[in-house]
Amino acid sequence: MACVAFNTCPLALAEAQSYMPSLIDKIELILDKYELKNENIIMRMTGCPNGCARSYVAEIGFVGTAYGRYNLHLGGDHEGTRLNKIYKENLDEEAILFELNNLFHHFKEEKIVNETFGDFAVRKVF
Ligand code: SF4
Repeated sequence: MACVAFNTCPLALAEAQSYMPSLIDKIELILDKYELKNENIIMRMTGCPNGCARSYVAEIGFVGTAYGRYNLHLGGDHEGTRLNKIYKENLDEEAILFELNNLFHHFKEEKIVNETFGDFAVRKVF
C-alpha cells in the first residue's frame, strides 16, 4: 500500500504510489534469489512522515524524507497491531535494495517455521 504523495499531496517530500510498483519489482527479484517469493510480507510507503498509508505498522515500511530518499522501518505485523521501528534513515534506492538483500539473506537462513518477516525482524534485528 502507498499514499498518493506527488503530485496530489502538497505535503509530499518523496514519491509513493507512483514509485512503489517499480521498487516492488526489484524487491521481488531479491526475494526470488532467496526462494522467498511465497512469503507474504506487508510493505507500505508514504511520501512523508504523516504516514497516511500506515507505513508505521508495516513489516517493511518506507517513509519519505526527501525526493528519492526513505527511512526504512521494520517489524510490524500482519494484523497492523504492532508499530515498527526505524532500521536505517534517508536511504536511496540502491541502499534500500542493499539493506533488503542482507535482511532477506538472514531471514532465509535463520527464520523459524512459519515465522513472518516482521516477527523475524523483531526477534533478530532489534
Ligand atoms: S503520508 Fe504525507 S505525502 Fe502521503 S498522503 Fe499523507 S500527508 Fe501526503
